Amino acid sequence: MSEQLIQSFDMNLATPECFPVVDWYRAGVQLHDDITEVLPYLNAELKSADYDHGAKILLWMSDNKKYAFRPCEIVVAPVESREEAQRLVNDIISIVNDIWIRRNEIEPNFEGKKPPPNVLDIYKILPKTNCKECGFTCMAFASALRADSTKLSLCPYLSEQDYYKLI
Ligand code: SF4
Repeated sequence: MSEQLIQSFDMNLATPECFPVVDWYRAGVQLHDDITEVLPYLNAELKSADYDHGAKILLWMSDNKKYAFRPCEIVVAPVESREEAQRLVNDIISIVNDIWIRRNEIEPNFEGKKPPPNVLDIYKILPKTNCKECGFTCMAFASALRADSTKLSLCPYLSEQDYYKLI
């Protein structure tokens, strides 16, 4: 019996429903095999994957392509042509099958990425002087920092230690 988890599938190309006139496509792969069991192993192996175990969905970004894995479907976007879609789909199916074959060597990860701290919690650890040395008010900075943690150094009065306690 084959060790391959995904043995057959159908692929289709479509423009995204919310942007019907764009010049790129999403490749949808309808799987004939349920891949639910491999999702925690993909979460462990694919760098920066985001997994929701309850919803059985795993999101991953690689080389500016977004991948969404569900029990019987994989979606890849954006793709420019059928040839590119076929190559990306073949590659991702190989990756899934390889991880499945190696699953006994992998510690499955059932956890999702922790969400960033909320704006009010960040605001609470700021001096609230609105000095604007960072280029924002304190509240606007809290919001900017939530969206992009590399802005941390812009506020000279924020204790990095306090911030890292939030995440
Ligand atoms: S530099 Fe810090 S204290 Fe000043 S406005 Fe920005 S966040 Fe507030």
